Amino acid sequence: MLIAFAQSTVAPPARSSGSVNWQSLRFEILERYRDLIRLDTTAGHETRAVDYLRKVLEGEGIPTKTLALDSARANLVARIKGNGSKRPLLILAHTDVVGVQRDKWPVDPFDAVMKDGYVWGRGSKDDKPVLAANLMTMLLLKRLAVPLDRDVIFLAESGEEADLTGVGINFVVREHFGEIDAEFAMTEGGGALIENGRVSRVTIGTAEKLPARVRLVATGTAGHGSAPRMDNAIIHLAAAVEKVGRWETPMRLNDTTRRYFETVAGMGTPSEAATYKALLDPATADAAQRKLREASPAEYSMLRTSVVPTLLQAGVGMNVIPSTAEATLDIRALPGEDIQKFYAEMAKVINDPAVKIEPIPMSRPPSPASRLDSEMYRVMQTVAGRIYPGATVIPSMSTGASDQAQLRAKGIQSYGIGPASTEDDAVNYPAHGDVERLAEASLYPFVQYVWEVVTGIAGRN
Ligand SMILES: [Zn+2]
Repeated sequence: MLIAFAQSTVAPPARSSGSVNWQSLRFEILERYRDLIRLDTTAGHETRAVDYLRKVLEGEGIPTKTLALDSARANLVARIKGNGSKRPLLILAHTDVVGVQRDKWPVDPFDAVMKDGYVWGRGSKDDKPVLAANLMTMLLLKRLAVPLDRDVIFLAESGEEADLTGVGINFVVREHFGEIDAEFAMTEGGGALIENGRVSRVTIGTAEKLPARVRLVATGTAGHGSAPRMDNAIIHLAAAVEKVGRWETPMRLNDTTRRYFETVAGMGTPSEAATYKALLDPATADAAQRKLREASPAEYSMLRTSVVPTLLQAGVGMNVIPSTAEATLDIRALPGEDIQKFYAEMAKVINDPAVKIEPIPMSRPPSPASRLDSEMYRVMQTVAGRIYPGATVIPSMSTGASDQAQLRAKGIQSYGIGPASTEDDAVNYPAHGDVERLAEASLYPFVQYVWEVVTGIAGRN
């Protein structure tokens, strides 16, 4: 085993009735997690997980409801009642996993193989640790009859990875919102970093950017390739792509990213710290941004609404001037960005009436950042410090998109979590990677983290 955790320093939460013997639960935690990985729940097969979860939950007297737009892609919801003095807490995880290329795997991707201290398998990171931790939390709440101020709602949702037909969170929010309405939610979207054998950093996801993609469409006069025309659609499109691709959109920090950069400014090498500090000072921010653009594209993206050309389409033949040419821009907007105004700004940057901006319908709603001064964030911060002693807790804004957007858009304060991994593992065995794996030693403290947050925020005071 490469990674050791200080087991004995973790005490059960003071508020819960009855204490949890984590050592004796290890086998059950591991086996339920492995059971979930063994179910091939690639898109279209999520009901396999729902059937498993229903059996386990109902087997212990927790009623469930199955919510399905597509019977093969069902969602499952379960609720443990509190005394109603506070609004509910929602713990959710998606059941679907991305596909596999079997020839890339050293082991069967759906057999939850244990090797070298790791559990290997599709979904071992994304999102079955969260699903297993949420399931264990529900079972323990019931077994220990923990008195609750809030209902705790469990949601296993389908179609997070590829929900073109809206079978998952979109369907549940639209048709069954009453089943999941809550003050707070917790799901994937955060994580923890292991350095030198211990967890040095815990990130809590509090915000995400909004995909707000557009097509640039240039039009001109078609003609023979032997006779040049200055209204050639490709020339106009190419100029527009160059301009938006190099456009330095304004830097704007929000509570999450400000706290993030303030915190990382106190970590890392002296030169990294200097860059982050310079970012927070308007006098030096420009130079610091340029450094970050080279060294850390993801952090650079946290500073601004980003515009990235990703697709080009033009032409029908080598000797034909086409009448239209198109580019797709992957735009990721900061929370709170006025997107119509942003498109108008972009039109000014392009400054060419031959090029039109056509927004592509959005797959997710705009969502505000969740608060850093909420009871939930405070509990998560405290629990993180207890489970991972000495770790720095940082809020983070994802530059990607997740199902938290739908929840935040409905007014739920939603927070992202994830099990710990090393930088090396995060790079070489990531979510969606050719091969996915999680250190077994990361699983147990993660389940405990979820349990302590849930009992901390929902347990009777
Ligand atoms: Zn996921």
